[in-house]
Amino acid sequence: YAKHSRTIAVQLYESGMDERRLRRQKLAIALQAAIEQDQLTLYYQPIFRLDSGDIESVEALLRWSSPEFGMVHPLEVIAVAEHYGLAHRLNEWVLQSACQQLHHWHQSGYYWLKINVNVSPSIFMDGELALTVQKVLQSSGLDASTLVLEITEDTSLWDTASSVETLQQLRELGIEIALDDFGTGYSSFSHLRQLPLNKLKIDKSFVADMTTDPRAYNLVKTIVSLAGSLDMKVTAEGIELPEQKDQLQQLGCELGQGYLLARPMPGDDMTEQLLHHTR
Ligand code: C2E
Ligand code: MG
Ligand code: MG
Ligand code: MG
Repeated sequence: YAKHSRTIAVQLYESGMDERRLRRQKLAIALQAAIEQDQLTLYYQPIFRLDSGDIESVEALLRWSSPEFGMVHPLEVIAVAEHYGLAHRLNEWVLQSACQQLHHWHQSGYYWLKINVNVSPSIFMDGELALTVQKVLQSSGLDASTLVLEITEDTSLWDTASSVETLQQLRELGIEIALDDFGTGYSSFSHLRQLPLNKLKIDKSFVADMTTDPRAYNLVKTIVSLAGSLDMKVTAEGIELPEQKDQLQQLGCELGQGYLLARPMPGDDMTEQLLHHTR
């Protein structure tokens, strides 16, 4: 009997695997079409200077509402793209769209605004990122200094000297590099020493706990001071409560984003928000 039930469990496990693989395959096919037919969109979440309340930048965040699958979480979209060889085209689409939108805002008079664009780790491996960025900057007519690329602490990223080279090429173009979700990944002090980074983003899990957990608070404090001593700007993500904002400000954290300040929104809503924003 035990043998029999184990067999069923294995079968269930395997059919579960099949279902997941099937969903991913179908997602990949739909995603490819969505990229070609321009069915993806970007939302924008402002990043504020905590002292003055000024908007410093907006982070572009991928949204895909598929007729077949509904809203697909951006991390699943990225995972599917990575697995089925669509990552390069997806990243290029995101970059192109984000830069076009920013150029539009610059032309409307918000010339001081920057844009943060997330790039997936595998893109650093194909060696073409700097070329792609250069191309996109040229075709959108954007000043390089207004583009910030956000990368996450993925182990594979740091393993090769070529990633450092890619980052250096990007810096030479004049764009900025931010290390996203800092504190949750695999970065070591030697990475921080070797990589040409301009910004650290404190992961929202630390911010979420900082007002209730002294250890989280002390970690945030340490990251802020670490960033300062390495001459990097620091941004806190996921600010949801006034107390979090107050504490971050007291610690000298320069920039912040989160639902308390503004949620991610469609481009038109962001334009509206800029209209009422004096700087
Ligand atoms: P991320 O880059 O760390 O982006 C911040 C995430 O936190 C976003 O989730 C944002 O909506 C969410 N967020 C902002 N404020 C708050 C807050 O106060 N509380 C909480 N709980 N969450 C907040 P989202 O848009 O679902 O994106 C998830 C992740 O997917 C991103 O994390 C990023 O790693 C990835 N991603 C999103 N768009 C892109 C893209 O265009 N390209 C790539 N490669 N990755 C992307
Ligand atoms: Mg990000
Ligand atoms: Mg983040
Ligand atoms: Mg994150």
